[in-house]
Amino acid sequence: MTEQPKRAPGGFPVVGVVGGGQLARMMQGPAIELGITLSVLAEADTASAALVVPSAPVGDHTDLEAVRAFAATCDVVTFDHEQVPQEVLAALEADGVVTHPSRSALVFAQDKLAMRERLTELGIACPRWYRARTVDDVERCGEQWGWPIVAKTPTGGYDGKGVAVVGSSADLGEWLAAVGEPGPFEHGILLEEKVDFARELAVLVARSPSGQAATWPVVETVQVDSICTEVLAPAPNLDPDLASVATEAALRIAGALEVTGVLAVEMFEVADDTGATTYVVNELAMRPHNSGHWSMDGAVTGQFEQHLRAVLDLPLGDPRPRAAWTVMANVLGGEHEELYSAYRHVMARDPGAKVHLYGKGVRPSRKIGHVNVSGDDLDDARDRAGHAADYLSGVVTQ
Ligand code: ADP
Repeated sequence: MTEQPKRAPGGFPVVGVVGGGQLARMMQGPAIELGITLSVLAEADTASAALVVPSAPVGDHTDLEAVRAFAATCDVVTFDHEQVPQEVLAALEADGVVTHPSRSALVFAQDKLAMRERLTELGIACPRWYRARTVDDVERCGEQWGWPIVAKTPTGGYDGKGVAVVGSSADLGEWLAAVGEPGPFEHGILLEEKVDFARELAVLVARSPSGQAATWPVVETVQVDSICTEVLAPAPNLDPDLASVATEAALRIAGALEVTGVLAVEMFEVADDTGATTYVVNELAMRPHNSGHWSMDGAVTGQFEQHLRAVLDLPLGDPRPRAAWTVMANVLGGEHEELYSAYRHVMARDPGAKVHLYGKGVRPSRKIGHVNVSGDDLDDARDRAGHAADYLSGVVTQ
């Protein structure tokens, strides 16, 4: 039997998080402040969250009995990632376990084809897309939209894994074989036109079970080799009309899909037929998200506190920014494994930089932390956050 997490006297709940990654870890600070007990079903006792959360039983998120036993010790269950299988979620639902988000919402963050279908039904702008089942489908899409096109495995992708730009159906075949999905495409492969976007944006919404919702300002996300390296909050020079339609779209998605907790709507900024600036939705994440890490230091209520409030159906906090600009720079794994010795330099050079490291082992390009810098000058904040992150990564040495 899974040990009961210790809870504070006074009726405080236990929030269970399936998955012991950095998102679960970053919920622990706000949980402590609010007197809420966090419990984490961690993949290993060395997982990022297991290092800081006292109640962290080890178990696999695909193991129904492990997840069930864990859920029985919690008042509400939420997630560190979107990989819990639908069968496991259905069994929890049948047991009467309350999960936020629910199984029926989560499917739209787990399956990119289901997401495209539902957003299209809702009239939300998406890139042109097609569920391809045959090589002929692929040829037709390429001819209609123009090569190259973008192919995505519907499930399991992250940080660009599961996404390929392909110049022909032969290219697609090779890629699918390389990622271990050689076909036939029974469930279908998601094909999309290759969007000629000006930049990538993200809108974060928190929504509670009773329907209260709050959004942070629209941010710009900068990716290098499909990995987010930097987030600028708010997105610089964003057309105010685009900011409001993008925010409305994200709120509408959250409401229509009945998302509970934090939802990230990733978008591309594009020009429409008349040349006016607009958006198409790229994808959804139903959990606190990298594009919201800036809010930990840069907003009145950060995304991890807001997620806890939302999943407990508490009134939401004020999402407004505390500064004109906050820049988040990701710390990616680099050459050296010994990170602590970098603190002396980073902290002495810039006392205003807020460093967050996740207790993860270093692997090249792995997200192991981030740095937030707020201020009145965007370029200065970018330089400072970027330098601190690069120093921690070992990209710069002074
Ligand atoms: P992941 O699930 O790995 O995050 P995404 O669907 O977000 O995958 O795609 C990763 C990156 O690939 C995006 O951030 C974007 O830069 C690029 N990308 C994805 N879809 C398209 C598209 N239709 N057109 C152009 N670029 C795309």
